[in-house]
Amino acid sequence: MDTIDTIQTDVVIVGTGASGLFTALHLPADTRITMITKDKTENSDSFLAQGGICVLHDADDYDSFMEDTLKAGHYENRRESVDIMIRSSRHIIDQLIAYGVDFARTAEGQLDYTREGCHSRARILFHEDITGREITSKLLAAVQELPNVTIREYTTMVDIIEKNNQCRGILACQADGSYLAIEASQTVFASGGVGGLYKNSTNYPHLTGDALAIAMEHHVELEHINYVQIHPTSLYSSQPGRSFLISESVRGEGAKLRGKDGKRFANEVLPRDVMTAKIRKQMEKDDRPFVWLDMTVLGEQLIKAHFPHIYERCLEDGIDCTRDWVPVVPAQHYFMGGIHVDEDSKTTMDRLYAVGETSCNGVHGRNRLASNSLLESLVFGERAAAHIIQSGLTEPAECPDDFQAACKDAAQKISAQKETLSQQYKTMILREMEREERAI
Ligand SMILES: Cc1cc2nc3c(=O)[nH]c(=O)nc-3n(C[C@H](O)[C@H](O)[C@H](O)COP(=O)(O)OP(=O)(O)OC[C@H]3O[C@@H](n4cnc5c(N)ncnc54)[C@H](O)[C@@H]3O)c2cc1C
Repeated sequence: MDTIDTIQTDVVIVGTGASGLFTALHLPADTRITMITKDKTENSDSFLAQGGICVLHDADDYDSFMEDTLKAGHYENRRESVDIMIRSSRHIIDQLIAYGVDFARTAEGQLDYTREGCHSRARILFHEDITGREITSKLLAAVQELPNVTIREYTTMVDIIEKNNQCRGILACQADGSYLAIEASQTVFASGGVGGLYKNSTNYPHLTGDALAIAMEHHVELEHINYVQIHPTSLYSSQPGRSFLISESVRGEGAKLRGKDGKRFANEVLPRDVMTAKIRKQMEKDDRPFVWLDMTVLGEQLIKAHFPHIYERCLEDGIDCTRDWVPVVPAQHYFMGGIHVDEDSKTTMDRLYAVGETSCNGVHGRNRLASNSLLESLVFGERAAAHIIQSGLTEPAECPDDFQAACKDAAQKISAQKETLSQQYKTMILREMEREERAI
């Protein structure tokens, strides 16, 4: 194999969603940062988030925010991680506002809060029904202004280069099929969830859990990788492709679920897993592939002001949700498990961090509380950056003597199975998920 193109950087970040961008924004200005993404920079689940981002409403809200998060997570959460997230939340929101994020405000100009399933009070900040796009586009704009950050699109991580449990960088595959080796002092996986492994998912299809498979290959510890959240309400369609989410805040604001007979069959703000089970039971009873979501009760004004994009998207399918009931069905949505990390987002491999949905820091337990994931991604992205700074960036990693040789070896191995690599990764992850599920 010919020489592989190699670049040297201080930190390589795999993924350009909210978690990766926020990590980059918290590294020093003189750090050389390379970010890669498998697709277009904007094509991340962070851009898709609709409902909002949680924040500690006021000091009195602490116990209730903690309890709501633990209860949704079936008390399998790491309490210390939840504590960090809640206590950091206001500071994160202040930063977002400073980056120009425009959260909804009351007529008096105060921040407005909404509520979603399993929240015992309104503590979610939002921007219409496109909170993710509002937050992530502002973070991306801030990163794009940094001269020390380079973003490479359509560049897919296919392996890491490591020796003696120390990560020395990654091997990536570029759009033209050529390899690119990125030698880095520190590596951060910010590679999102696993929706691309499922037939019905609200996620981008290119999010296939590659970092998990690579971690498994290199004996990096995973945690709870069978903990996958199904969202109760995605827009029913007989067409293939990404399922469009109907945000939980629609039910939080008062929309009703109805069976074939038009009657309500559940409390609409139950935790997601319980709600999904109720909907599936009703679908079975009705012998239909969907149930109805009645948004008409919210009134045209609220629908058009708070949920304009859901309104527009439903219209594309010929449904006017101010007048018609919307057919909805559960779909894969979020991944609570992931690469095991500590409270500084460190994995069990030296010089390797994981942040956002690909990581498991224990915040979500068995089931995520609505609107906790953007917050968790940002809090632990910032913590990864802080730890990277603390551990020192410029020290060379004690790794393969010849980085090029190690990259060539990895590339040769991958080339032999290139056509089938994504299928192999998929099989590995799904098998491991099943194995964990059986072990319960
Ligand atoms: C429809 C929808 C609505 C949601 N609504 C909310 C909400 O209201 N509130 C909330 O808190 N959360 C919500 N979420 C969840 C939240 O959006 C995500 O959990 C969060 O944005 C994840 O951010 P991330 O940075 O970890 O990953 P992502 O934003 O998904 O980014 C992953 C990145 O990794 C890249 N990548 C993946 N594999 C590779 C590879 N091998 N090589 C190179 N790059 C790679 C991708 O291209 C992408 O850039 C929602 C999710 C969806 C899908």
